[in-house]
Amino acid sequence: EILGEERYAIAAPLIARVLQGEAQSYDWQPFPGVWQVISYAPKRDGAGRVTGYYVLGTDITERKAAEAKIHSLNQELAGHLVELENVSRALRTLSAGNRTMLRAVSEPELLDNMCQAIVESGGYDTAVVWFRLEDGPQSLRPMAQHGYPTGLPGLLGLQATWADNERGQGAVATAIRSGQTRVVADLANAPGYAHWQAELHDYASVIACPLRVAGKVIGALAIYDTRPQAFSPDETVLLTESAEDLAFGINNLRTRAEQLRSQEAMHRLTHFDNLTGLPNEMQFAETLTATLAEARQLHRPFALLQANIEHLSELNDALGFRHGDQLLCEFGNRLHSLMPYPAMVARLRGDEFSVLLPDSGADGALAAVQLLQQHLETPFRIADISLEVSAKIGVALYPEHGTTPHDLFRHMDIAVHLAKKKGVGHVVFDPAQNPDHSRRLTIASELRRAIEQGDLQLYLQPKVDMASGRLCGAEGLVRWQHPERGLIPPVEFVGLAENTGLIKPLTEWVVGAALRLNHAWSEQGCALPIAVNLSAHNLRDERLLERIHHLLATWQIAPGLFEMELTESTVMEDAEFALHVLHGLRREGIPLYIDDFGTGYSSLAYLQKLPVDYIKIDQSFVRNLSTRKESELIVRSTIDLIHDLGRKAVAEGIEDQASWDILATLGCDYAQGYFIARPMPAEQFQAWAASYQPPASCLPDRTEWSI
Ligand code: C2E
Ligand code: MG
Ligand code: MG
Repeated sequence: EILGEERYAIAAPLIARVLQGEAQSYDWQPFPGVWQVISYAPKRDGAGRVTGYYVLGTDITERKAAEAKIHSLNQELAGHLVELENVSRALRTLSAGNRTMLRAVSEPELLDNMCQAIVESGGYDTAVVWFRLEDGPQSLRPMAQHGYPTGLPGLLGLQATWADNERGQGAVATAIRSGQTRVVADLANAPGYAHWQAELHDYASVIACPLRVAGKVIGALAIYDTRPQAFSPDETVLLTESAEDLAFGINNLRTRAEQLRSQEAMHRLTHFDNLTGLPNEMQFAETLTATLAEARQLHRPFALLQANIEHLSELNDALGFRHGDQLLCEFGNRLHSLMPYPAMVARLRGDEFSVLLPDSGADGALAAVQLLQQHLETPFRIADISLEVSAKIGVALYPEHGTTPHDLFRHMDIAVHLAKKKGVGHVVFDPAQNPDHSRRLTIASELRRAIEQGDLQLYLQPKVDMASGRLCGAEGLVRWQHPERGLIPPVEFVGLAENTGLIKPLTEWVVGAALRLNHAWSEQGCALPIAVNLSAHNLRDERLLERIHHLLATWQIAPGLFEMELTESTVMEDAEFALHVLHGLRREGIPLYIDDFGTGYSSLAYLQKLPVDYIKIDQSFVRNLSTRKESELIVRSTIDLIHDLGRKAVAEGIEDQASWDILATLGCDYAQGYFIARPMPAEQFQAWAASYQPPASCLPDRTEWSI
């Protein structure tokens, strides 16, 4: 009655059970918003028999509210767990992707590994990297994949496109065009996939993230999943980040590849000669340094050879640079094929080639020299002309001739120059003739003192007019009166002076001595021209003209009495500038000589431009005149050439009557040489001139010149 019928229906079975001795309880809502728990507990007597029951009502509204909250929280949690699982696979993808990135050394490897990581570490079904092509149909090229049932060939067969047409509305194409990540959650019903339904396999969703490399979208990373709605928003952010990392990795590898390519190109540029393709001076020097270190350790010898092609510039002048270049290439080829591995053949510069012969002593070096000379006997075919090419070779050996690259290079160079000077095919460096560096330094400082203290001497060698036999001038030649070593000839110190900056004071001394003599002789009324020799270094001296002008004015020298000689190579060293200086000297009234003609490579065209009055035929041609027929031929054509150019020919180094006679018949204008007189101290010159008798073959009716 108290409970009423409705509640009694609930309570009756409980009452029945509690009367059996089992406690009971149930929750109910007496009013909306209020919850109670009703408990029934059996009441027992002393013997434990159930005699009735207690009913206890407790308000549990709050607990009920808390339970409801917990329930809804649990549901929310379940949702989050799914999301979390998605995010965590994306995170796994991200970190596996990054590991891949660190390890990959090439772009294909990176793309493959990335796809594999997405599937295997991330747990997605399939990953594909698509690149866009800039071809006509704007194709999508699958570059790497993992998990696609028919692999790359299957993907290729899809003939996907990123073009904005009906087949290009999928996630990949739109991601590429827009540069934004695209997610399609339900492929079966997506309008963009209407054309692709047959190729979808079991895939239900896809995400495509653009790959942006160096500011340009080059493709997309696509991940396919068989569940619909597979990609949550947070996951999308993370996968986009993964794709950005992949793009970064691609960019890195491309930059590295580019760097490698330019490093290689740089290495080629800096280590190889452009023209011949042979190693250049830098590579040669590096190899020399390495060979030296090894040779030192293993106590092994090696040899260096330098071969200079002769008369290359003449060939350039005659046939043009293109053919000169062709000769250089063929010479390089010949040298390269003659010197087998491990010899290294390099082109140092211009006409200079070098060979490094590891494990080689003097014998090996000489065998190589012989081999080269022998093969040079076969003419080169350039521009349909058969050219005889010769080379001067210098040899330096380790350890005899130097233990540093610098010394070896220098000594090899000295040997070549000596070969040129002596007119022989090759020279092996001779330390006895070339004092070592510290010794050179001592000599240089002694020379400096000698110039300051006037320990130099001016020697004079007469020149005579060949037609009349008359004395017509003298050449001033310097000597060094050394306190211990005695009289030193110029070949032993002029080069040193040039290399140590002493050539300026030296030349000043010689010019001063010559002008003093000029002046003294003029005062005595027996003026005679005196020629001094200039070095290339003097020619480069910008104050040369100014100083000469000043000196000529000081000594009041009449024009023509003070002359200058310059070797062919001196003039050719800086041809344009030399021309300017020579014109300046000529304006000062100084007659000019080209010295040692025939040893350099001056071109005829250039020679014609030079304001010189005399050309001195080098003594190497003159000395053999009476014994070698070809010398006569050379001298004859040289004299003709000099006359054609409107200049006077001077022969130097005439040592005997026979040479004199030949030169006289060839029409040579002036003569100089031991046959007339050796160079003598300037103070003895007047006495010599007074007793001078012209050679017997001169026309007798000419009056003698006497001083
Ligand atoms: P150069 O100017 O060609 O001088 C001619 C050289 O040939 C001289 O050698 C002379 O003694 C030598 N000579 C002359 N006639 C004969 C001969 O019949 N037979 C032989 N075998 N030799 C002959 P020197 O005096 O030893 O001079 C050598 C070179 O040193 C000169 O060649 C010149 O280039 C240079 N030189 C000499 N004095 C000076 C100078 O004051 N300044 C500069 N820059 N160089 C100088
Ligand atoms: Mg001279
Ligand atoms: Mg000379």
